[in-house]
Amino acid sequence: MPEPTFDSLADCLDWVEPRLLEAHQNKLERGQPAEMPTDMPWWPAGYAHDAEARAFEIAVGAVLTQNTNWNNVEKALANLHAAEVLAADRILALDDETLSDLIRPSGFFRIKTRRLRAMTEAWQDAGGRVGLQARPTNELREWLLGIHGVGHETADDILLYALERPVWVIDTYTRRLFHRLGFPETATKKYDRLADDLLTHTLEPTAPRLARWHGLIVEHAKAHCRVKPVCGDCPLIERCAYGSGLEKGE
Ligand code: SF4
Repeated sequence: MPEPTFDSLADCLDWVEPRLLEAHQNKLERGQPAEMPTDMPWWPAGYAHDAEARAFEIAVGAVLTQNTNWNNVEKALANLHAAEVLAADRILALDDETLSDLIRPSGFFRIKTRRLRAMTEAWQDAGGRVGLQARPTNELREWLLGIHGVGHETADDILLYALERPVWVIDTYTRRLFHRLGFPETATKKYDRLADDLLTHTLEPTAPRLARWHGLIVEHAKAHCRVKPVCGDCPLIERCAYGSGLEKGE
């Protein structure tokens, strides 16, 4: 791996963010498909008509998106919406077979039936979005991690997008990007430690900004920083340890 070109993670974040944002805005201006249809909110919650329904729909999507792509989640959410059950009390009123059938397009549907039911029960018991909003972020994370089938990434998806808490969502794309930019430890660092590092080094880490960061990284990973990267016209190549090394044949 070539030498990193950034003095610190903070330096890297400050340099990368405006470039990914500019690339995203250029896409929108050219009418090209973009991961984020607008700047915010990035996480789609197309069926909700109020804040509570939106938060719950995001939480449902966060469970269903485990180990699958978003297109499959959209089909499952469309089924739940068409059956008029995209609400906590209605999901809990379904039997397992009916719920499994509705979420089948998201894959692993028997496992996800149990996970979705567990998350929905916990959500309802906690008083939904309003009840949860009263609790501090660390307590919410512990609560989420205690729910069957909710791991770190799902918990942080829900914290950031459903409950608007300032947290970094660490996924494969995030680890890959910062690894390639010259921070190899991000590939293997424990989830909590990496999330803390990124949060500490982010300038003004508000929830909207972190929500946008995650969307920008996903968009960039799909357009350029794939498993086999497309570095040629990548907006980050100038200072990317991996990409510039490839150019030099290292
Ligand atoms: S230059 Fe290549 S490796 Fe680096 S961020 Fe861009 S696509 Fe990824």
